[in-house]
Amino acid sequence: MSQVQQITVLGATGSIGLSTLDVIARHPQRYRVFALSGFSRLAELEALCMIYRPRFAVAQNAQAARQLQGGLHAAGLTTQVLFGEQGLCEVAAHPEVDTVMAAIVGAAGLKPTLAAVEAGKKVLLANKEALVMSGALFIQAVRSSGAVLLPIDSEHNAIFQCLPGDYARGLASVGVRRIMLTASGGPFRQTPLEQLAEVTPEQACAHPNWSMGRKISVDSASMMNKGLELIEACWLFDAQPEQVEVVIHPQSVIHSLVDYVDGSVLAQLGNPDMRTPISHALAWPQRIDSGVAPLDLFVVARLDFEAPDEQRFPCLRLARQAAEVSGTAPAMLNAANEVAVAAFLERRIRFPEIASIIDAVLNAEAAVAVECLDTVLAADHRARALAEQWLSRRE
Ligand code: NDP
Ligand code: MG
Repeated sequence: MSQVQQITVLGATGSIGLSTLDVIARHPQRYRVFALSGFSRLAELEALCMIYRPRFAVAQNAQAARQLQGGLHAAGLTTQVLFGEQGLCEVAAHPEVDTVMAAIVGAAGLKPTLAAVEAGKKVLLANKEALVMSGALFIQAVRSSGAVLLPIDSEHNAIFQCLPGDYARGLASVGVRRIMLTASGGPFRQTPLEQLAEVTPEQACAHPNWSMGRKISVDSASMMNKGLELIEACWLFDAQPEQVEVVIHPQSVIHSLVDYVDGSVLAQLGNPDMRTPISHALAWPQRIDSGVAPLDLFVVARLDFEAPDEQRFPCLRLARQAAEVSGTAPAMLNAANEVAVAAFLERRIRFPEIASIIDAVLNAEAAVAVECLDTVLAADHRARALAEQWLSRRE
């Protein structure tokens, strides 16, 4: 591609956002930052604007936008500062944008990511919660707008790399038997079960292999992250839940595998660094330098595998159930999990109660078929309210 690609980075102040900017900075002849968004970290957003000099920045609210606009103006920048969900949707769908990195965490990313999809952009999807919530609506929007959807989640990016180019014909017709999603097992893989009630947010966020935002770190510790990824894989690759197997692989070197009917199993390997899938998706179908060190198999030395223990990781079972029920169940699962994780990070609940809240919410209300975005948003709001009720009863 000869033309410089204009990129919007939604969630620029986060872990994926910063890794994306690191890759972009390595290739100034290929990529230009068109817009950056942040939320609570306004000073960091301002510092990023100083470096990348985007056309637009998006802040949390009007007051933050005024403050940022003042700072950027004083520094001689012409960056225009927008705010809120409307600002995010505007920079995601702007006609001059080629590619959108969707790296906002949680349900807050749904509308801006959908705006990028509906505008037919090349969408690099890190914000798995958006796809988990809206499922069929999201995929239909990709099809009807002609957007190019590329997975950033390392597992899904690995699977994408291991599938043939025409996999959209259907997994069975390209000879795929099953997808194997690898999981590190997180920081509590070997913690005695009776100690899980005592683990702290700091311990949950200290992932053995990956450095990530706090919400996904807790999701990795509970394996809800793998549950969300199972649902994500079903939508991305048009798979049934039973075609997706979860394999614990503590070294996080194999990022996932595809098992074919002839007995061939293809895997993608690499050091655990998100700049690999980010570079892959940014440059696809080409390859570019990501700054990631080459894999040294002699240092890795061994690759281990084990089956996930459902007693230790009940969130995985809950997510599989939600995938099977489908309809609004994944949106409810996701919303209950977001409330529960926030409560755990605020030390309002113990770690095992994350699963208890989600279980209670899923049992409190039956899922319904998804007809439109309002159905999804209503399920999200209702599940949040039920989770909050659970929390206030507990307190
Ligand atoms: P971080 O918490 O590091 O970053 C989240 C970003 O979203 C920040 O820029 C944050 O702004 C912004 N944000 C938070 N809340 C809102 C909101 N309500 N409205 C608008 N913006 C908001 O998360 P990660 O980068 O780790 O993860 C981002 C997404 O990527 C998640 O969906 C995660 O599951 C997925 N992902 C992450 C991986 C990783 O290695 N980190 C791997 C695979 C997927 P601010 O910081 O200024 O508040
Ligand atoms: Mg992942």
